[in-house]
Amino acid sequence: MFQTITALLDFASPFHVCCDREWNVICVGPSMAEHLDSDPIGHPLADMLSFQRPKLDGPTGLNNLAGQLVLLRIKHSGLDLRGQWNDMPWPGLDSGDAGRVLLCSPWVTGEDQWRKTGLKLRQLGPQDGSGEYLLLLAAAREQALDVARLADLANARGNVLEALVQRMREGLLLIDNEGRIESANPAASALLGRRTNEIEHMPLGEFFTKLPSLEDSSEDIEWEVQKKNGGSFKARGSRYGITTPGKHSEALLFRDVSEEEQTLQMRRTFLSMVSHELRTPLTAIKAPLGMSLSGHLGELSPKVRDVLKIATRNADRLHQLVDDVIDLERLESNALPMTPSEFKSSELAQKLREGLSSAAADAQVALDFKDEDFTLVADQGRILQVLTNLVGNAIRHSPKPSTVHLRMLQRDSYARCEVTDEGPGIPADLRSRIFDRFFQVSSGIEQPTGGTGLGLAISRLIVAQHGGTIGVDGGPSGCGSTFWLEIPLAGLGVEQP
Ligand code: ADP
Repeated sequence: MFQTITALLDFASPFHVCCDREWNVICVGPSMAEHLDSDPIGHPLADMLSFQRPKLDGPTGLNNLAGQLVLLRIKHSGLDLRGQWNDMPWPGLDSGDAGRVLLCSPWVTGEDQWRKTGLKLRQLGPQDGSGEYLLLLAAAREQALDVARLADLANARGNVLEALVQRMREGLLLIDNEGRIESANPAASALLGRRTNEIEHMPLGEFFTKLPSLEDSSEDIEWEVQKKNGGSFKARGSRYGITTPGKHSEALLFRDVSEEEQTLQMRRTFLSMVSHELRTPLTAIKAPLGMSLSGHLGELSPKVRDVLKIATRNADRLHQLVDDVIDLERLESNALPMTPSEFKSSELAQKLREGLSSAAADAQVALDFKDEDFTLVADQGRILQVLTNLVGNAIRHSPKPSTVHLRMLQRDSYARCEVTDEGPGIPADLRSRIFDRFFQVSSGIEQPTGGTGLGLAISRLIVAQHGGTIGVDGGPSGCGSTFWLEIPLAGLGVEQP
């Protein structure tokens, strides 16, 4: 019986050590024996091993360690091991019917430690088949210990995530590959007005209308959501694919934006009202200023003239801001109708040059326009407004002297316009935000650019109304920037003749 047990232990862990209840060694595994300088049988365990963790003083400190992971070192060879104590029935023991077995394996953390084990790789093979098993067993137990630790960690993380999902204000639904709701967090059930167990297994289409397909889902998409009581609300959120081994599902994250929309609408109405109310008195201020400066109200001293010029410049700026705010508000609420007409790109370039040549000359900037002279259908006035903004910005941000280039190109079924300058350019991380309203790049030196920060936001909306896109890249020579826009040649849905 004793021999069978020791043979099994040798097989499972060549580094094992068995002790009686007084911590005297009964037997050791063959690999452990190789690392000792004398026969340990009958001697205290503490003579051959030192315990690194938990730190213990002598063998008496080893009580109640069953099942614990311990790190230890063989005193003679200095080999590090890690292992676990187990209580074990042990036949023939005087001091009780159970002894202790420490099953351990080398803690191989590098080449040196590997060599210390004595389990050389070249020992493996047919001539010493048991070595291979022993190594495999040792490695398997190491892995099992690691997996258990990882599982603990994953469990802890899972608990944190679960707590977050339960408490978050956004609704979160997990959807199976047949489009049915698999699970819902409390926020989702509150938003949908039903209990979680009512929602689960229901088809998604039951609640969400106009649900975009996964391929069309971008960061922020909008749906109409049906509630149990027949009501509905506007939701905004995102839809993600989730692939786990052998399974594909989706997650839908959403929130109720009806209140946000209402506030936005109120803000728009307020802005529109204020802007319109400002326009009339502004015109009343600008008219007498213009009359005075033109000399119709009598001769002006140079000082008065300078003061009136400053006042006019600021009144113009305010007027521009009010116009921009009104345009923006109307574009955003789709209340600015586009008037399509057919025209040549050269006509646009000509108007642009006429409108901007004096500003360019004042800024000592040359205008280099190249145009492939094609026909397009668009709201000419609005596209001219966009290009005037782009070329005007380019002039304002150009060094003196320099050149602003405009290219008007035809690409298959769309027109592409590029405006390139030699100015400071837009930092790459700000390029996506430059089209947001009131966004202005700080140059570090406060200098008035005379802008409102609305021009690009308006441009983007106008281009979008034409079914096109607008963007900015770094200039081709590594400095400056290239603003570009692309619109379909029949941008407003009017068929080309
Ligand atoms: P603004 O009326 O201030 O020009 P825009 O919306 O047209 O408003 O532009 C927003 C900001 O983008 C500008 O204030 C400026 O900081 C930056 N910008 C626009 N065009 C250029 C350019 N060509 N070079 C450098 N910065 C630019």
